[in-house]
Amino acid sequence: MDSVLIRYHEIALKKGNRPYFVDLLRRNLVASLGGVEVKEAKTLQARILLTLGGAAREEVARRLTGVFGVANFSFVERTEADIEALRQRVLGSIDGRRFASFRIDARRADKSFPLTSPEINRVLGAAVKEKTGARVDLENAEVTIDVEILPECAFFGFEKVPGPGGLPVGASGRVVSLISGGFDSPVAAYRMMQRGCRLIFVHFHSAPYLDRTSQEKCRELVRLLTRHQFKSRLYLVPFGEIQRAIVAGVLRPLRVVLYRRMMLRIAEAIARKEKALALATGESLAQVASQTLENMSVIQQAAALPILRPLVGMDKQEIIDQARRIGTFEISSMPDQDCCQLFVPKHPATKSRLADVEKAEARLDIAALVQTGAAEAACEEFSFP
Ligand code: ATP
Ligand code: MG
Repeated sequence: MDSVLIRYHEIALKKGNRPYFVDLLRRNLVASLGGVEVKEAKTLQARILLTLGGAAREEVARRLTGVFGVANFSFVERTEADIEALRQRVLGSIDGRRFASFRIDARRADKSFPLTSPEINRVLGAAVKEKTGARVDLENAEVTIDVEILPECAFFGFEKVPGPGGLPVGASGRVVSLISGGFDSPVAAYRMMQRGCRLIFVHFHSAPYLDRTSQEKCRELVRLLTRHQFKSRLYLVPFGEIQRAIVAGVLRPLRVVLYRRMMLRIAEAIARKEKALALATGESLAQVASQTLENMSVIQQAAALPILRPLVGMDKQEIIDQARRIGTFEISSMPDQDCCQLFVPKHPATKSRLADVEKAEARLDIAALVQTGAAEAACEEFSFP
């Protein structure tokens, strides 16, 4: 089988813009298969059909499960849209397969096909039953044979592989993702890509005051996440000198809030350069001192772009569970030295006030610090595959 039938859900709900979304998905599917020969990537009724030049099926499946917008997909065989041809081919392809129970799940995109879906199920079901002796089980079948009837052809396949859902990357514009090497921000990044955002990553580090582990972790995380958007850029911003400037003039309890405000300003400068429309963070309400509503409010006022916080209503266990599912957990678990540990008190202020923060910032040359931070950022490129 060298054909893969891709199904999408959320895109199907779009009205006038559907062709745009479908075409974006089609291009992303092809991009994910770099190195695999794609003979054709064709849009059919509410489906995309990929015709491949003999690639390893596991590898193709691994790639496609990373493409946002895909609800599920199956490796399929293609026949004429004719019940007798279908019957022959289905029987031919179950040679060598052993199963005790099965069901047929037929769908007609072409309503002019002479048989209804239940009739197709019955005809093919009877044939498979006779050949294999397996019983029909509509609830818990060991094997489900999906059949799709389109106007010019029909397809059948033996297994639907679930995709990651969401919208194709690129559909929702560009966003700068603040990534720290912790558990939260990579999950936040994943969730924004799943909503169709193309991410530019920004990481702040305190080398040489702290070691380079956080940068290494971010590289690993970006490498992993790039499988969903195929090309990524990671800006590594040296933050140690900025922290020193803050520390020199600001009382301990307010430092974390000032760090965060500087991060947002620098991220915003990078966003403008990259034509990004928003910033995304891994903040979750009240998880730590800097994430109280009071502090979030004071922090966000440093930036004019919207701040997207996809984890805001999630609890830590939910975030960790998702980190495990998307493969970032292991990388985030590695010990590191995070810039926010530098020169900060055990008990940072949980209720900072904008007036106090602005008074403290008045002693700093904010514009110059932002400019230096953005200018000194090192930019690295990643691509997948
Ligand atoms: P994470 O697990 O993502 O590190 P956290 O629970 O440690 O989050 P904070 O340290 O308060 O929470 O950080 C909140 C958010 O600020 C992070 O999710 C991330 O988006 C951003 N952030 C924090 N530190 C950095 C950093 N060094 N570089 C880039 N972004 C950062
Ligand atoms: Mg952190």
